[in-house]
Amino acid sequence: MSTNSNNSKSSNKLENILIIGNGGRENALAWAIQKNELVKRIYLLPGNAGTEKINKSENISLDLDNIEELIKKINFLKIDLVVIGPETPLADGLGDILRASNFAVFGPGSDGAKLESSKSWAKEFMIEAGIPTANFWKVKSLDKAKEIIFASKNPLVVKADGLASGKGVFVTESKEASLKATEEIFKGKFGNAGEIVVLEEKIEGPEVSVFALCDGEKYVLLPTAQDHKRLNENDEGPNTGGMGAYSPTPLITKTYLERITKEIIEPTIEALLRKNIEYKGVLYFGLMITNSGPKVIEYNCRFGDPECQTIMPLMDKDFVNLLQKCALGKLVGNETIKVPDKLSGCVIATSKGYPSKYETGLPIYFGNIDAEDCQIFDSGTSLNSKNQIVTNGGRVLSIVCQGKDFNTVFEKAYKNLKEISFEGIYYRKDIGHQVRIKTVNERLIK
Ligand code: AMP
Repeated sequence: MSTNSNNSKSSNKLENILIIGNGGRENALAWAIQKNELVKRIYLLPGNAGTEKINKSENISLDLDNIEELIKKINFLKIDLVVIGPETPLADGLGDILRASNFAVFGPGSDGAKLESSKSWAKEFMIEAGIPTANFWKVKSLDKAKEIIFASKNPLVVKADGLASGKGVFVTESKEASLKATEEIFKGKFGNAGEIVVLEEKIEGPEVSVFALCDGEKYVLLPTAQDHKRLNENDEGPNTGGMGAYSPTPLITKTYLERITKEIIEPTIEALLRKNIEYKGVLYFGLMITNSGPKVIEYNCRFGDPECQTIMPLMDKDFVNLLQKCALGKLVGNETIKVPDKLSGCVIATSKGYPSKYETGLPIYFGNIDAEDCQIFDSGTSLNSKNQIVTNGGRVLSIVCQGKDFNTVFEKAYKNLKEISFEGIYYRKDIGHQVRIKTVNERLIK
């Protein structure tokens, strides 16, 4: 296949960047990447209605499965760095294909992406590497699942093995519910992703997200975050892709992060290397802080969404240099991320009905938005024939704000949300409840 010296691995140029994906995460990445003056143009494939409003950014359209055309386009645009956002192309090996054509790619190959694309593979990997995680059973039939569910002391967590957009996990409250969830998965609720079911012991504790930018061997940690996965207030309702987040989390002190690094992060990277997996991209650790220490709930092979939208406003112009160093295997290992003296929070506005069925194409109206230390990253939007911004996904907008304390952060976010409307708009009112100081009145109303 043809290559181009401008974008070969040896180049340190950073003029043209290609970001693959169309969500809030890719909006936030483009927004952080454009800060660097070396970057001249950012192409988003396909992007969404929000990405084109970002400085230096432009959407391009092309069928991702048409690899020949994609490679031609990357050469034509003289792309210096490709950043692959979502898990599906990573799991499908897009990173491998582009690297084989000598492009600098931020995003693991399909081998590393298996940490996310197969929950049973990830669990076996953790057991082999001695990484703390909940006990589990990998099952391929309903009969076997039934046996395990009714032999276990408590109801289990039921997971489809493959990719299911964050919706393939059921934290059940009774053995009957564990069985029902297993049955639904085996019946094909998540297609091929449900050919294998992982049953897990339910563990307890607050959840935190830790991100490592990896170059295959070395890594740099991003600020920690806390996500809100459940649809409704008080962390009730079904699991979603994420309804909001905040960063950094005060739960993780410097000392506790050292423990996580020693018990989880470094053993993971070392175990990948032992398997000859050169992981060049972001490795996401979804952790639960239990009474017996941190345990891995899940790995992701990409930036979490909405954690990415939350963290990107804390990044400075050197962020893109780190992505490039990871892609080129050139981290020194002592890089640190300069974080401003600010906190960040994000609230997601969704379509009515998400995470189940929802309507799209509904016009979105913006009132008087306070843009100071606030960003609105489009998650699922498009332009209709009248050039109006309309809803085009379950998660529609990410409203992100920064401030000196989390009360200020979320007051701003919710004030801006009042200025946004589309038919059926829904968002949780309690994002960041763990870190917002309640007023006397709020404490009284219980
Ligand atoms: P996952 O997609 O694997 O991160 O799971 C989604 C959510 O389900 C997690 O964020 C947890 O809230 C919950 N969950 C997953 N596994 C467990 C477990 N073993 N014990 C308790 N809760 C879990």
